[in-house]
Amino acid sequence: HAKHAGGARYCFFAPPMQEEASRKLALGSALQRAIGADEFVMHYQPKVDARSGKICGFEALIRWPQGDGAWIPPSLFIPVAEQTGRIDPIGAFAIARTAELLRQWGALGIDDVPIAVNVSALQFRHENVAAELAQAAAAAGIAPSLLEIELTESGVMNNPAQAIETLHQIHALGMTISIDDFGTGYSSLAHLKRFPIDKLKIDASFVHDIATDPCDAAIVLAIITLAHVLNLTVIAEGVETAAQMAFLIANGCDELQGNYFSPAVSNEDALGLLRRGPFSMAPPPTGTTT
Ligand code: C2E
Ligand code: MG
Ligand code: MG
Ligand code: MG
Repeated sequence: HAKHAGGARYCFFAPPMQEEASRKLALGSALQRAIGADEFVMHYQPKVDARSGKICGFEALIRWPQGDGAWIPPSLFIPVAEQTGRIDPIGAFAIARTAELLRQWGALGIDDVPIAVNVSALQFRHENVAAELAQAAAAAGIAPSLLEIELTESGVMNNPAQAIETLHQIHALGMTISIDDFGTGYSSLAHLKRFPIDKLKIDASFVHDIATDPCDAAIVLAIITLAHVLNLTVIAEGVETAAQMAFLIANGCDELQGNYFSPAVSNEDALGLLRRGPFSMAPPPTGTTT
């Protein structure tokens, strides 16, 4: 459609909005081409058990390399993929590629490390996600319980009745379900308690200043308590420093994820992380501020 976008057609848009619209169109058609050319890559970030320092799973994060070593971040192209009706093939790719890596690990005797895939709100609503997940696991010949899913609050709160139904189907496959970016969307606690979910992921924005901002510290403590009262596992995202790690461990957070341990890495490097020993969970030396 980009070639029809010139002339007077957009004259009622303010210039920044017009730029925004044409950037979206350009990105949308680049996405279409990238889907056809199989340009996407999955990277994997470890989730670390707060007690043992052992890797207790990974999160699959999509990457769109640009040839020059740079890549377009998913925060930029996933929303465009959703708005331009292109999220389904991208979501299917993420699931299939992750299931394939789990198959490879299984052949190496590593069959107890689950990988979580992010499922977009649209994918969760429009598709028969449970069947898609089951099919991907079957195609790779892996136990479905090795696949986990991460969903945002908006993904489940939009239509709670339907969400409960879908979540039950996914749960019946033995898959773990996490609520991603918890605390940034709007969650009805009444619904939350009825959802068959397993895990809350504390959003990185609360974790960032946890050691210095009493408000963020209080929010994180409240989420940890809420999770445990609801019998859910709780994981902190975006852990970047030893001080954040120490605070989270001291306050009962079950799992930790973030660049302090490792960013998302390639298949080979993820395997390397698994073969290395546990991470050190030692607190920072006293007197440091990081
Ligand atoms: P998310 O699911 O909340 O993923 C966490 C994001 O935080 C990832 O960004 C990750 O690379 C980043 N991160 C991890 N540790 C740290 C840290 O210590 N500090 C900071 N500053 N950031 C950290 P990424 O990979 O850019 O992905 C952004 C978002 O894009 C994801 O947020 C998720 O919502 C979406 N996304 C990524 N891959 C997929 C996918 O395959 N399918 C769908 N539907 N969405 C995806
Ligand atoms: Mg996620
Ligand atoms: Mg998140
Ligand atoms: Mg996010």
